[in-house]
Amino acid sequence: MAKIVMKFGGTSMAGTERIRNVASRVKKEVDAGNQVAVVVSAMAGETDRLVGFCREAAPLHDPKEYDVVVAAGEQITSGLLAITLQAMGVPARSWLGWQLPIHTSDAHSSARIESIETDALNAAMASGEVAVIPGFQGMADTGRVTTLGRGGSDTSAVAVAAAVKADRCDIYTDVDGVYTTDPRIVPKAQKLDKVTYEEMLELASVGAKVLQTRSVSLAMKENVRVQVLTSFEDKPGTLIVSDDEIGENDVERQVITGIAHDKNEAKITLIKVPDRPGAVASIFAPLADASINVDMIIQNIAHDAGSTDVTFTVPGAELARALDALEKAQGAIGYEKLVHDTKVAKISIVGVGMRSHAGVASTMFQALGSRGINIQAISTSEIKVSVLIDEDETELAVRVLHTAYGLDAAD
Ligand code: ADP
Ligand code: ASP
Ligand code: MG
Repeated sequence: MAKIVMKFGGTSMAGTERIRNVASRVKKEVDAGNQVAVVVSAMAGETDRLVGFCREAAPLHDPKEYDVVVAAGEQITSGLLAITLQAMGVPARSWLGWQLPIHTSDAHSSARIESIETDALNAAMASGEVAVIPGFQGMADTGRVTTLGRGGSDTSAVAVAAAVKADRCDIYTDVDGVYTTDPRIVPKAQKLDKVTYEEMLELASVGAKVLQTRSVSLAMKENVRVQVLTSFEDKPGTLIVSDDEIGENDVERQVITGIAHDKNEAKITLIKVPDRPGAVASIFAPLADASINVDMIIQNIAHDAGSTDVTFTVPGAELARALDALEKAQGAIGYEKLVHDTKVAKISIVGVGMRSHAGVASTMFQALGSRGINIQAISTSEIKVSVLIDEDETELAVRVLHTAYGLDAAD
């Protein structure tokens, strides 16, 4: 007998028929004698619809009320799955975020899970009842509902798995595993049997939305055994493993494990910033105060008159707030002009093999250059290189790089 957490994404929960398919999968695990907790997403498209209502109601709205609205999608699917399981003769009960409760920080719309109370949950599971938990939602100390940021149901699932000390956390989605790149963009992408926590973390953080970034860092920290697989077929998926389970010297191992893209970045350039000590600090301090994450940064060669241009990227959703903070700080920073561009995309290559191979970045720059793709900014980490390009060239760039690093599947 094992204790397992099964998580089903929006496509798997989209409609009564699909929820019945999910319930059959859950029943199979119960019939095999396992204790099961299920974490569910809202139906595909539902969270977008709810976010849209909030924007229509008021473009700048109270995040506490946004959470009340957007958490509703998961409340519906958790109840529907419990009803469907019961109709199949499987004892099941839903547990909303505030009922368990799942305690989170009070950072509404991007809250962090702090702890989960498990006594009642463990007791229910031990009695043979399936616990159905809406993903994405929790409760702040104030008692108010919070949400965990888009894609947050993955994090709910891993957090529940860690809290109940589950043997496995199976993430069921609409692709059959983690691929070398988004298989919807590159049909020749290859499925990975295993990927390390470290690489998955990096891939998720640069746009591979198959798992939410926080779910991977939590799984890594808490040693949760995560598998990504499809709810539509019976076949093995991708296991997220530690480095020693994959073998650093595996001859099969590619230098680059995966390629990701992210169209949600926005580029900001401050023109003619005084070229003096402290100038850069005066730009980033107001952004930090507004809790806006800055990603790629480049400072151009100084102009003759002792000024320079500074370019950087911020998440597209934060652009309005970033511009507001920078405009207010114009006097302190002393720049001449502020320009921005949302028609950009960040393309990243990720692989631990980069540590031991030279020339990896150079292959990237050459491959893009040979197709006339201009690089606007670059950033690197130990196992990642990212470039910023024109958004219209995203698909082409991903395909070109996939081929350049020998990742294409044989015909
Ligand atoms: P869910 O609703 O199940 O959480 P998501 O839409 O959040 O599903 O994530 C699954 C999607 O992630 C896939 O449909 C695929 O288009 C996308 N994706 C991006 N990069 C990858 C990758 N490297 N491997 C697999 N899927 C990827
Ligand atoms: N429904 C939420 C979203 O669309 C959470 C999730 O599906 O993971 O972002
Ligand atoms: Mg998701």
